[in-house]
Amino acid sequence: MKSSYDLIVVGAGPAGTTTALYAHRQGLRVLLIDKKSFPRDKVCGDVIPGRAWPILQELGLTEPLEALGILPLREARLVSPAGIPLHLQLPPCSPPYLNGFMCPRLQFDQVLFRAAAEQVNCYTGVTARGLLPRDDQRVGLQVRHRSGKEEVLVVPLVVAADGAHSQLARKAGLPPSRFRLVATRQYVQPLHQSAVLEAHFWPPLLPGYRWWFPLPDGRVNAGVGTLYRRVKGPGGSLRRLHQRAFAELETSPGVPPARAVSPIQGWHLPTPDFRRPLSADHLLLVGDAAALVDPFTGGGIGNAMLSGKLAARVARQALEAGRTDRQFLNRYDQQLWQQLRSEFRLAYRLQRLGKYPVLLNWIVRRLTSNRIPQTLLEEMSTHPLARRALLSPATYLGLRKKVG
Ligand SMILES: Cc1cc2nc3c(=O)[nH]c(=O)nc-3n(C[C@H](O)[C@H](O)[C@H](O)COP(=O)(O)OP(=O)(O)OC[C@H]3O[C@@H](n4cnc5c(N)ncnc54)[C@H](O)[C@@H]3O)c2cc1C
Repeated sequence: MKSSYDLIVVGAGPAGTTTALYAHRQGLRVLLIDKKSFPRDKVCGDVIPGRAWPILQELGLTEPLEALGILPLREARLVSPAGIPLHLQLPPCSPPYLNGFMCPRLQFDQVLFRAAAEQVNCYTGVTARGLLPRDDQRVGLQVRHRSGKEEVLVVPLVVAADGAHSQLARKAGLPPSRFRLVATRQYVQPLHQSAVLEAHFWPPLLPGYRWWFPLPDGRVNAGVGTLYRRVKGPGGSLRRLHQRAFAELETSPGVPPARAVSPIQGWHLPTPDFRRPLSADHLLLVGDAAALVDPFTGGGIGNAMLSGKLAARVARQALEAGRTDRQFLNRYDQQLWQQLRSEFRLAYRLQRLGKYPVLLNWIVRRLTSNRIPQTLLEEMSTHPLARRALLSPATYLGLRKKVG
């Protein structure tokens, strides 16, 4: 592999491919590597958040996605810990995908990967193993090919898009985020079709939930998500929670019976740690490597792509200035937190609130009986202000006056 690149991006998921595509547009010579061969699966709920759509538009990727028959999110049903259902109709928007859409990751990531592979040099079956200090201007990236061959690629800048357990971040001395969720996914074939997304705040998972997300191909993505600390330690088993969650669901009304068509698989979802640096000398972290998963919803794809876009911009500035040291790259941390910090803070507050079943039941009862805050909930995914209003006691006090 030649070594005359400005930037090597490690990991070709949504964060890495977005970084590579934007960096290429900025005129940088980019190499993208991944340890897996594509198409490759990724354990996920397969909900692509609305935040991703404008980025996909900018990158010219909406057409190939629409050609796959992706399913815009229109309706959802939340169920409170006591079993109170709340039906939500998402606000109409144009294009409808701005509310988010369903697309299996096998296909979504392949669309991104194919676009990146057409535009930048791309190698799969290549694992990054760590960084070796060189000089002020460059760093060595140690890689191992599937054949077993090892080499060191020397570049000014590396972007770690290597996912939730980022080896590169760890090797660069950046500790993992102190906060994480865990979640499972199993594909099932339902006997009756429905386009409604289900999210149930089932008590053993709080503040997490079990989900039932219909896919465009007729299958359903079923999974559970919760705080890591709820399942770590002796006796804790996420797989068992998944099995219990869906065994119970089979007997509840409104959810169709289904046949499993894939194994139960789980993975970690690192959530933001504002104290943790997202850059080091010659290194930027994006996506799950930067721990950008929403602490309440568990969505990370939109933030992964946004971080890739910002990282590409800072990479160009750094290379132009000949400054790939941590002081210069810190502007990436600042820009990212400036865009996302308040949203993440609200999500952490929702996560704390979600630990109290009585409170959740109370809120859902109020929401089912009054239209105003329900609209707030429906708009939560697209409008941060709606989230803020939902968390404000004034919303409920005003409501109480009105209802009472
Ligand atoms: C069960 C579950 C459900 C979820 N549901 C949703 C959802 O519905 N919506 C949503 O928005 N988010 C969801 N998420 C989170 C979402 O999957 C992640 O936020 C998203 O995949 C992050 O993208 P990424 O590009 O940072 O990392 P990844 O998609 O994990 O990509 C990382 C890439 O790096 C490669 N790699 C890793 N190590 C190396 C190495 N050393 N060398 C070379 N390559 C390497 C991997 O092969 C992989 O291709 C879910 C997560 C889980 C676990």
